This record gives sequence, C-alpha cells and structure tokens, in this order.
Amino acid sequence: MELFDREEGLSRAEIEAMQESRLRETLRLAGKTPFYAKRLAETGPIKKVADLSRLPFTTKDDLRAHYPYGLLATERDNIVRMHASSGTTGSPTAIHYTREDIDTWARLMARCMHMVGIRPRDVFQNTSGYGLFTGGLGIHFGAEYLGCLTIPAGAGNTRRQLKLIQDFGVTVIHIIPSYALYMGETLQQDRIAPDSFPVKIALIGAEPHTEEARQRIEFLLGCRCYNSYGLSEMNGPGVAFECTEQNGLHVWEDAYIFEIVDRHDQSPLEAGQWGELVMTTLTRQGMPVLRYRTGDITRLIAGDCACGRRHRRIDRIAGRVDDMFILKGVNIYPLQIERVLMSFPEVGQNYVIELDNQQGKDILKVRVEVGENSSAGDNDLQKAVTRMLKDEILLTPQVELVSFGGLPKAEGKAVRLIDKRRTTPAIN
Ligand code: AMP
Ligand code: ZN
Repeated sequence: MELFDREEGLSRAEIEAMQESRLRETLRLAGKTPFYAKRLAETGPIKKVADLSRLPFTTKDDLRAHYPYGLLATERDNIVRMHASSGTTGSPTAIHYTREDIDTWARLMARCMHMVGIRPRDVFQNTSGYGLFTGGLGIHFGAEYLGCLTIPAGAGNTRRQLKLIQDFGVTVIHIIPSYALYMGETLQQDRIAPDSFPVKIALIGAEPHTEEARQRIEFLLGCRCYNSYGLSEMNGPGVAFECTEQNGLHVWEDAYIFEIVDRHDQSPLEAGQWGELVMTTLTRQGMPVLRYRTGDITRLIAGDCACGRRHRRIDRIAGRVDDMFILKGVNIYPLQIERVLMSFPEVGQNYVIELDNQQGKDILKVRVEVGENSSAGDNDLQKAVTRMLKDEILLTPQVELVSFGGLPKAEGKAVRLIDKRRTTPAIN
C-alpha cells in the first residue's frame, strides 16, 4: 500500500488517539461561537469522543439560522473562501474556510485520488459546475495538490468535454453519475469505442447511485469508477472515498468523527444496520461543526478492508432521509427503482419517478428512456419492467417507456423524484 500521507496509514489506536486530541481542540474552537458555547454549557463538559453523544445534533436548520456568518470560530478576516450547499429546497447555508482549511481539504482530496492510483502524471478533467458547489473548486484544488495537470472544464457542453478529453489525453475525470451515463450515451452516438477513450478512472459522486449504475458507467466509458462522498457542511468532497477494492468508502477518521444513528429515535446503531450518518469535523478552524445530521442513509461495514487502511468504511449512500417516500404505507427509496431499471440492458440511462394523487388515490409513475436501439413501443419490455419493479417495491407502478433522449436532462445533480402530491413547494 503506497500512502499519500502519514495519517492515511495510521493504526486504529493511532486514529483513536488523534481523534481525542483533535476533538479537544475542535471543542475549544467551537466554544468561541455563541451557538456552540451555549450548547456546550448546557451539556456539561465533553472530554472524550465517548462523551460526544451527550451533545445535541446540529441540523441544517441550525446552519440556516446562523446564515451567513453566525458560526465563525475565528475573525472574519481569517476566512478566505465560502461555499454554499446546493440544497434544492429552503434557504441556503454557508460554509467558511480559512487558508489552512482550504489546504487541509485539498490534501484530503489528493489523498483520495492517490488512493485509487492517480498520480501527478495523470491529466485530470473536472466536469462539475464551478461556483458555490464544492465539487468544482474542492476537487480542483485536490487534483492540483496531487500534481495532476488539471482542466477546469465545468459543467455541460458534452461535445466540448469530449474534445478536451481527446485533445489532452485526459486519464481521469470527476463526474456526477447521472451525467456520466449521459456522456456514455454521447460516446455511443458518436461511435467512440470505450477502449479508445483515454479516460481510465472516473470519480463519481455528489448524488446517490446504485452499483448497477456504476457498472453501466464503467461499461459505457471503459474505465474504473470510484465513489466519492462529501457534503459542503464537512468541506465538500474528500470525506469518504472508495479504495481500489470497490467495497465501501473509507471515511477519513483523522479529519472526521462519524456516527450512524437510527433514523427515528437517533440511537446509535451497530455495524451492518442502516441509519443516518452524523459527522463532526476534527480539523476545521474557520467553522467547526459538531454532530451534524447529514440526512444520508448508510451503514458501517464491519471488519478490516483488504487494502490495509484502518479508516473504517461506510456503504454507498442508499438515499437521503428526505428522498424516501411512502406510498400506500410502503417506504420506498428512489434507488430501489434505479437498481431495477439499470438491470435491463434495453433500458436507457435517464428516468424520473412521479408521485401523483388522482381521485384520492396515490399513483406511482416511472418514466424511463429506452436505450438507443430499443423501442418505446416494446410492450414486453414495459411489462417485464413493471413486474420486476413490483417485486422490488411491492406496489405496481405505472411504467411509461420514453424514446431514447426523450426526457429532460438536468445540468448538475439529476432530479429523479417529482412529487406532484404536494400542493405547495416543499420547504425543509
Ligand atoms: P452538497 O453539500 O450540496 O454538495 O450536497 C451534499 C449531498 O450530496 C450529500 O449530503 C449527499 O446527499 C449527496 N452526495 C454527495 N456525494 C454522494 C455520493 N457519493 N453518493 C450519494 N450521495 C452523495
Ligand atoms: Zn480499502
């Protein structure tokens, strides 16, 4: 195992000792903000990682309530950058970084990239939108820190992306999974064979996706894909990342404490049990965040990873707490639907789930594109998809096959779920 930095290779005992000392420093800094000072005073002294569970969670609403500058643990003059969560609903949240924070973040991101075999000789293209979204500058700084030639292509304009990739011999891209599927379709249309495509590694993240979608991207682009997880509240990307085992994401525990709690009563969960990920920053100077409820559903993977790293692993994100919908008393995650759709080779890459209420009855409609060589009029396919979805979600959806390229394509994170049952826009 070739390590990028010392922290990557720490033993469990070393990681735990580092967490204790970094938590003490984080609590000292957090105590400089009126919000956490009050909370810490109410909770009583927190001396160890084990005491942390006494502290109330920090929620998205807490961050919103302190927008724009309310949670700074340092002078505003020491802040060199801000990002904001892409949050599709509600008011924004702002995250602030000191120069040191930017540097630590870039190093974490570079460590992720190095872990999957990326080296300074690689040419890296970032297809994320630049701007407030952390997937732009966050990944960019990581790639430069590692020493790659870094192309800030930004979002959209697929043919220009492909031209840059081919002209500059791009070997690594960062790409949102839904966009990677779309890029794969464009390759097919342009008759570019995946094995002549120079990209060898794609970092895919920023939105939930299934193993089936990953395999499809690997097939369409002819590369290996590694799952990249992060959220603005914890810097952005670089929080957890798959190693070459492709079996769970290592959370960098020298920089974050993570917990997985029951979605309903927030009690701690054992390895293997699915729950909500809760995270605490350990290195952030400008804006420490304690016990943040991410809203993301995952589980701890028990046991040591074959790669030798001792930072524990989480499973791929199964969805967001607020993505789950309940229909006729059944809890459904959009990814359950994706998994079924992607298992049909005749089915294309783009789909949308619509929830509606007609004459007092809840209706689940799945509109999905067929592949380039399939027909939207294929009744057998329509029936087979309906049957398999019913087996997965225990309800019979209305399945509409749409011709190739017939559904709208979002730039940035895909919108997969449209809930028409809501009469007013959701604010959460
Ligand atoms: P933002 O802070 O706006 O960049 O959004 C962060 C959110 O994106 C996370 O809380 C997750 O819900 C989602 N996300 C980021 N990376 C992944 C990933 N690899 N898999 C699934 N969801 C992800
Ligand atoms: Zn590993």
